[in-house]
Amino acid sequence: MTNAPILVWLRRDLRLTDHPALYHAAQQGPVVLAFCHDDQDGRALGGASRWWLHQSLTALGDTVTLARGRCEAEIPRLAQACGARAVYWNASADPALSATEARVRQALKIPTEPFAGDELFSIGAVRTNAGTPFQVFTPFWRAALALPPPPQPLPRPAPLVLAPCPGLPLAALELMPKLDWWRGMAELWQPGEAGAAARLADFLDGPVETYQRDRDLPAKPGTSLLSPHLAFGEISPRQIWHAARALPPGDGIHTFLKELGWREFSRHLLARQPDLATIPLRPEFRAFPWRDDPEALRKWQMGRTGYPIIDAGLRQLWQTGWMHNRVRMIVASFLIKDLLIPWQAGEAWFWDTLVDADSANNAASWQWVAGSGADAAPFFRIFNPVTQGEKFDPDGTYVRTWVPELAHLPKAFVHQPWKMGRVPGYPPPMVDHALARTRALAAFKGLKDDP
Ligand code: FAD
Repeated sequence: MTNAPILVWLRRDLRLTDHPALYHAAQQGPVVLAFCHDDQDGRALGGASRWWLHQSLTALGDTVTLARGRCEAEIPRLAQACGARAVYWNASADPALSATEARVRQALKIPTEPFAGDELFSIGAVRTNAGTPFQVFTPFWRAALALPPPPQPLPRPAPLVLAPCPGLPLAALELMPKLDWWRGMAELWQPGEAGAAARLADFLDGPVETYQRDRDLPAKPGTSLLSPHLAFGEISPRQIWHAARALPPGDGIHTFLKELGWREFSRHLLARQPDLATIPLRPEFRAFPWRDDPEALRKWQMGRTGYPIIDAGLRQLWQTGWMHNRVRMIVASFLIKDLLIPWQAGEAWFWDTLVDADSANNAASWQWVAGSGADAAPFFRIFNPVTQGEKFDPDGTYVRTWVPELAHLPKAFVHQPWKMGRVPGYPPPMVDHALARTRALAAFKGLKDDP
């Protein structure tokens, strides 16, 4: 033991339990926990994520020393200021974040150690028999489940001896939005490790049993709502995995763990494809005849398309920073296929407005809906917003919650209000879905027919 502390650099892992870098550092003596806000550390955070980060750092309180600026300058500066003898962190799967980690490592004159990151199975460990990475989810997940199970989570270090180190006040990071559009988010969420643990406990205490049935019904509280906590690493996938596995097995748990598997798959994909958010994985999609229509994009963003399920989803997103998965798929299909607006524009809007904006999940999911991804829905599968609404929101509760103009509509019209004539305050459909579908299929056919 020596009294010089080890600096633990927090990345997107804002927690104290099951934190390999922190656990191993704390075993050796005092620790400085440091976080550096750097807009050039990977993709600059969107507005909703900045709000979340502010709250999550608030929850960590005085435990963490804050810095702002380029990480490769700030982390060595802090390490020197607090007399650190080494710097530890958990490695990121996102190549843009690992590039920062490589620069920090190079800039430091003291020993460094990256630990396993926030994956259930380390990147590169899940491979085909031929040793190549998987392109398709189902065999990927089958192979992952055949590996030794993820290790048990590590405990929160006790005692945790924190060494003093001067840092910035949280306000100096200027993360909070200037306008107060975040109030709806504050009502729904409790950012931080305690909020994450409470969400997991609530979910495993009930909804998980009916998860397989209810997870597609946006009006029901049928999913875990863990995504923003996972995106900021306030809980680790290993903690979730082992807590779920400790319960009697059932369809709900099986399906829930499979969704965590999609998170894994996306991360493994991003680690190989740093441009996942911008470049279609299937090269033929690079020539797709997209439309440039800022007005249509704006209507979609604001939830003014005239299709109730779409508008409900986009307004839920705007007000809470989250949208139900089924509705994410429907709104994404509408933007890409009914409006022929590039999926990258939708991905960017989600990046800015989701509290769970995640470089792997967001990019991989948009490519999945667009049909341009590794394991993707075929382009010609185009969601009909009316029948999707009637199927997954059969009595219109979800639409009525988020689109108050339609709250008084009888069930038969809530997903196609235009059949009642003009509803005051609510727009008519911005496109005719049947015509838009034909147009999209023709564009896709042209793409395939091109030599
Ligand atoms: P649960 O159903 O409780 O699932 C548990 C966890 O599994 C989630 O928290 C998430 O980490 C993971 N998961 C679930 N579904 C998926 C999926 N399809 N792909 C990858 N991981 C999944 N998820 C994000 O975390 N961040 C994003 O930026 C994001 N963007 C998306 C964009 C589009 C167009 C679509 C269709 C999906 C996107 N998803 C994204 C995936 C999914 O919608 C959310 O993870 C899910 O709705 C989060 O709610 P939950 O935590 O209650 O999920």
